[in-house]
Amino acid sequence: MTEDRLRKVLELERAKRFGDRAVTAGLDVFLKNIATHEGSQLSSEAFALIQALPVAGYRSLTPAKRKQWIEELLGVLKGSAAPLEAGSRKLEAGSGAAADAVPGHLRAGAASERRDAGSGTAAPRPARADGSRAPVATARKTAVESQPRLQQGQARFSPGELEGLGVDAPIYALKRVPFSLGVKFDKLNIHTVRDLLLFFPRRHVDYGDPVPVAQLEHGREQTVRAHIWSARERQMGPRMRSTEATIGDASGMMQCVWFNQPWIAKQLPVNAEVVVSGRVGERQGRPCFDNPEWELWSEDLVHTGRLVPIYPLTAGLQNRTIRRVMQEAIDRFADKLPDPLPEEMRDRLDLAPIADAVAQMHYPTDRAALEHSRRRLAFEELLPIQLTMQLRRRMFQKSAPAEPMPLPASIEREFKAALPFTLTGAQERVLFDVLGDLRKPIPMSRLVQGDVGSGKTVIAAAALVAAVANGRQGVMMAPTEILAEQHFQTLKRLFNANGGEGPVVSARPPFLDPLRSPELFERRDRAGEVRIALLTGSLRAKERRELYEAMERGEIDIACGTHALIQGGVRFRDLGVVVVDEQHRFGVMQRAALREKGAHAAHTPHMLVMTATPIPRTLALTLYGDLDISVVDELPPGRQQIKTTWVGPDERGDAERFVRGQVAAGRQAFVICPLVEESETLDVKSATAEYERLQRLVYPDLRLELIHGRMAGKTKDAVMRRFRSGEADILVSTAVIEVGIDIPNASVMMIEGADRFGLAQLHQFRGRVGRGADQSYCLLLSDEPSEEARKRLELMEETTDGFRLAEADMAIRGPGQFFGTKQSGLPGLKVARLTDVKLIELTRTEAGRMLDEDLGLTKPEHHALNRQVARLMDSIVDEEH
Ligand code: ADP
Ligand code: MG
Repeated sequence: MTEDRLRKVLELERAKRFGDRAVTAGLDVFLKNIATHEGSQLSSEAFALIQALPVAGYRSLTPAKRKQWIEELLGVLKGSAAPLEAGSRKLEAGSGAAADAVPGHLRAGAASERRDAGSGTAAPRPARADGSRAPVATARKTAVESQPRLQQGQARFSPGELEGLGVDAPIYALKRVPFSLGVKFDKLNIHTVRDLLLFFPRRHVDYGDPVPVAQLEHGREQTVRAHIWSARERQMGPRMRSTEATIGDASGMMQCVWFNQPWIAKQLPVNAEVVVSGRVGERQGRPCFDNPEWELWSEDLVHTGRLVPIYPLTAGLQNRTIRRVMQEAIDRFADKLPDPLPEEMRDRLDLAPIADAVAQMHYPTDRAALEHSRRRLAFEELLPIQLTMQLRRRMFQKSAPAEPMPLPASIEREFKAALPFTLTGAQERVLFDVLGDLRKPIPMSRLVQGDVGSGKTVIAAAALVAAVANGRQGVMMAPTEILAEQHFQTLKRLFNANGGEGPVVSARPPFLDPLRSPELFERRDRAGEVRIALLTGSLRAKERRELYEAMERGEIDIACGTHALIQGGVRFRDLGVVVVDEQHRFGVMQRAALREKGAHAAHTPHMLVMTATPIPRTLALTLYGDLDISVVDELPPGRQQIKTTWVGPDERGDAERFVRGQVAAGRQAFVICPLVEESETLDVKSATAEYERLQRLVYPDLRLELIHGRMAGKTKDAVMRRFRSGEADILVSTAVIEVGIDIPNASVMMIEGADRFGLAQLHQFRGRVGRGADQSYCLLLSDEPSEEARKRLELMEETTDGFRLAEADMAIRGPGQFFGTKQSGLPGLKVARLTDVKLIELTRTEAGRMLDEDLGLTKPEHHALNRQVARLMDSIVDEEH
């Protein structure tokens, strides 16, 4: 059994790529427990291999060594696996648990005897909580109700003895955890008391303080404290037996029914005082409870009359059971949890001690206390991640210096003066961050995040101006040709380039007049002339070659482009600033590749990453990437609130008429076609069909254009250009226009099959309109949205705040999808919300402060954090190899 369990853990560790993530407490703790308590159950080879680990443990091995060691041990275990009896095989988990609890030194005799004893211990305990059958029919007769029957001098660890292990004790240290229950916790990956304590509720229901029966209000979640008048089992229909009870207090009486749970009747003695919580119903004019939570009155309510924890339900484990066990765990063990946060830090930042925080996470006094605890635990979860990221960053920055690229105040002033608008406060703030970074001899790694239309481009432009002003090159990479072209046009306008239809234009921006700051232009051969290029995949081979050469000779100052910029042939002479727009479309690898384009120069380029995606993915990048962030959290003035409506199938005609009205008023409209999950080809088909339907049947007199991802870049550009210049009224499109396009005259965004898109994406679509002065509209068409989709659409109607939408999306659809396998190198977050920017920033600052003061994290109060960071570093290294 022991070997079985060991093998499983090792296999899991292998599956998790040797990151020491198979068991929560770390493999070393697990191995030590096994070797100490079950050593005699292991073959001598296996035992020897465990003993052969270095003193610092498995944790201290390199990934390659870990792999080697595990493979070797697995080999030994496979070799010695003896065939089990059919009966005990079924009982693996239970017997494993039994073995866990039997100290090895008390075991005597041959392995086979031990196995018998083991299964004898575990088998006879039928699991009653969920009514499941005892696995071996004959074993039921020998059931031992209270304590497992132990033979031949074997003794189960007493809870007291196990308690000595502190929170690393197996959950059997809890009196309320018999073997049968332990097995179920095992399946939830809860093995130790620590695991249990950190198994947090999904939410709490607020049953509040008890009220008199007469004050119950239909439909509310409430609690009464009353006496039991009668309680009996009742047959309801042919198959259902239930419990029916009448309870009452001085103000009145009421009925409670527990369907399908006849056994409750026996637990409700007449005259006893009971507390009952639930949603108040009504029968025959009287209040009633159906399937309420209940418990007999005590000072220490866990199921009723307070904020009651609701745990993620899992097969066979009921909330009532978990609550009861949790209460014991908290009472006996919470104060044994080591606190990884130094006391000084906790005091300064008002973070609760861990014992309080954990206790309150389960049984909060009130919502404020719950939030306070959540904040503390989230902080603790985020801090090691921030420390890890910042350490990586410090290492990286040390190894590759950047050249300072200060933007002289005079140029900054004139650059701003040349803009057709005044920067918003948020833009000023972010620009300040960026220019500050550029002045330093360490490469900037900054993420600029801002809702669509918040005006990020101009910040990028300023960074590019700084590069040019310092005689360096800048590039701006966008995920689509349309967007790259748009940036190219924006820069052309900004730099005052006249004409120039080709991929390269020259400009003489007034703000870069070399006469004013000659010292900056020493290295430049062309006085004050800036050359801007557009590099996309649709360039002809000859053009591309010429462009490559010009870039390499340093004759191009700024290059806009798509991922064509990171292709093999591209070389820069002296890359100073790299801007990556709409980051979420690019992976970390592509980011790195672009940065490397400048690497043959002596310096690492500064990098600015921009994204309009407020979804947690971005914040995940913040956590998982090693970037600083600035947020443009304000839209330019005068922007209209975009009116958003969900349009049902009956109102389609109205919506189409509405679009026509807008076009008649001189505006333009986007129509987004439904997402066809299976393939892009189908997307294209459906968009084409929709385009034809609209053109023929609905708007035969209007000018429609179609655009989709399968079109050649040139064709797409031509379509976009026609739409932008007003030669088309309606643009029918697949999801390709998701990012960044700026068409100020467009006032309607009509989205077909809106229920198929996530909130974040709908929000992106909506951001395409409302860029001009006119009132803009977003029409969400959906025939029969599911309950969940309906909620999303209603949220879209309600708010235009991207962060709120992101948070809601995560709440509705669950955080799971935000933690794809790609990020698996780092732990999933249990408590922290990736949308809690303030807290993330706080942990970031604190991590920086801690590293400034103790870079090696060697102070005693930093030891616990040091260990966590070491583990995270390992797992990232794993991911990268
Ligand atoms: P995004 O952040 O989505 O990339 P853009 O940079 O494309 O936004 O800006 C959206 C539009 O807002 C552009 O037309 C731009 O010229 C305009 N804009 C940017 N900043 C301001 C400002 N401070 N005041 C007015 N308009 C602005
Ligand atoms: Mg943009």
